[in-house]
Amino acid sequence: MRRAALTSACFACLATAAAAQQDVMAMRAEPLGPGLTVISGFANGNILVLSGPEGTLLVDAQSAKRVGLADSVLTSLGAPPVRWVVNTHYHGDHTEGNALFRGRGAEIIGQAALPAQMVKDTTITSWGEWHRTPADPASIPTRTFRDSLTLRVNGQRVMITHLPSAHTDGDAIVWLPDANVIHIGDLFEHQAPPFLDWWAGGRLTGMLAGVDWGLNHSDSATRIVPGHGPVGNRADLLQYRQMLLGVSTAVAEQMKAGASVEATQATQPAAPWQAQLGSPRRMNEFVALLYLGLAEFESASFRVRAVPRTPESRLPWLLGCWQTSRKGLTIEERWIALPDGSLAGRGRTVRNGTVVDSEVVTITARGDTLVYTANPAGQAQALFLAPTATDSSVAFANPAHDFPTRVGYRRVGAMGLTAEVAGPAEGRERTIPFPYAAVVCQGS
Ligand SMILES: [Zn+2]
Repeated sequence: MRRAALTSACFACLATAAAAQQDVMAMRAEPLGPGLTVISGFANGNILVLSGPEGTLLVDAQSAKRVGLADSVLTSLGAPPVRWVVNTHYHGDHTEGNALFRGRGAEIIGQAALPAQMVKDTTITSWGEWHRTPADPASIPTRTFRDSLTLRVNGQRVMITHLPSAHTDGDAIVWLPDANVIHIGDLFEHQAPPFLDWWAGGRLTGMLAGVDWGLNHSDSATRIVPGHGPVGNRADLLQYRQMLLGVSTAVAEQMKAGASVEATQATQPAAPWQAQLGSPRRMNEFVALLYLGLAEFESASFRVRAVPRTPESRLPWLLGCWQTSRKGLTIEERWIALPDGSLAGRGRTVRNGTVVDSEVVTITARGDTLVYTANPAGQAQALFLAPTATDSSVAFANPAHDFPTRVGYRRVGAMGLTAEVAGPAEGRERTIPFPYAAVVCQGS
């Protein structure tokens, strides 16, 4: 379920949003790798397709109205028959299509809460008279699990993990570690506000825990399939986490001060994240949803926390493993976040499989200033400072150092990173760029 309380008027505003139009009005197939495709469209849940000699596995199946179109995309891809459908949660725009594939003999897999959730017939009066109608019995899972389930399909591990009380009470994250792909379901909506189904056991603390699960199982090369919206990466997920925690914290602070929902909306708590959330109308709706949930379902368990200003939260796009080649050498950087939110980086130069040079650096915070500490082998430690950072670049400087005096990083698209060291050398200005590409982190 993407947005339960949308009126037809808001569907219209969504349809006119240029960025969303393509997704809303067409069925699209995006290849993610050998045998892996994401099918999306009509604002239904994204389908992850894994096909191969053993058959096809789907993660989610869209709505009854759209599954036929999704099925014709499968045919055009030449996908073998669907043998498994794994549901990320019970909402109809992810599960109604189960019936079509179950009718052809597919096994439908879902968390143990799904069968009971799917047969409910209730009206949520506190959220726009949202009527939850019972699902077609033919769409109900034929195989359930409680905590986790691992399948091996077409040579890939398909690891399904239950995240309790998150978007609903029956969420599953589907991780394909061999392909480095995660379908995280509606725990992550990319470029739109998420929905929390408070009435089916959804909780903010669980949403944040589910997002953290995704962050802990991904690196810079991981493709993260959201429930809705374009396929993202770890940096997108971390920015989304900051948004979710930031807006919720601001809403909780207003509530603590006694503000009404309208007064809370008037303070525009979601405005700093408008680029991620869309129109003011959708931001207001999201604020109302959080207000309602925190008032009726979760006030005790969600504690107001300051939005952290750690290097991890300010440079999320740096995390992971990066590689480039130069003159027969392979140059790698691996960046990880430490428990205190600082970053540790390891640079290595490899020639013919042998490490010929290695360096460990850290990025810590001193108030708002980011501090890059280099520990070059056999030389004194050097500190470079960056007073600011953008969401795609950071530039550190130490004018007193010999060479370099500047160290910079710049995110290039979803999968690229350019590092640069620069400064005066032998009487002239010199810049050495490292055009890195994201790679899957290997080993330790
Ligand atoms: Zn949903």
